Parts: sequence; C-alpha cells; structure tokens
Amino acid sequence: MSTSIRPRTMKDRGGWLCMPLCENVPEGKPGWKKMSCPNCGKLCWERPEDAGIVRISKLDGVCCTLCALEKVAERCSK
Ligand SMILES: [Zn+2]
Repeated sequence: MSTSIRPRTMKDRGGWLCMPLCENVPEGKPGWKKMSCPNCGKLCWERPEDAGIVRISKLDGVCCTLCALEKVAERCSK
C-alpha cells in the first residue's frame, strides 16, 4: 500500500487560533462567550465561528492574541 502521495487538505494547516482579548474588545459581539485563555488565563472572547475552524483545520489549540503572538515567535526562533 503506497502512502507516498497524500493530497494536501485544510487539515495541513495546524497552528493556533487566537481569540480577541476582553481588555482589547470590552463589548464583544452577540454570540461571543467569555472564556479564559487556556495558556495564560486572561479573559478573552470565544467566537461561535471559531469552534468550526478548530475542528476543520485541526488547530493545535486556541489561545488569546498575546499567547498566539508568543507561540508564533517561539516557532520562528527554532
Ligand atoms: Zn493567553
């Protein structure tokens, strides 16, 4: 069985989904839910459309904007 050729799909994306911080967006939008960032614990907004993106693109996880920036910097420095 050959597994050498695999079509690239949206699943190849990976990465982190960043959620807007409540400090940056105090009002939020209808349907947004407050949750704390699993990484740093800051309050941020979980948007209903993000849940679908996480499932479709097999993201590594979700975190606030600040943590996402840190993670990108970490990845680039390696
Ligand atoms: Zn965070």
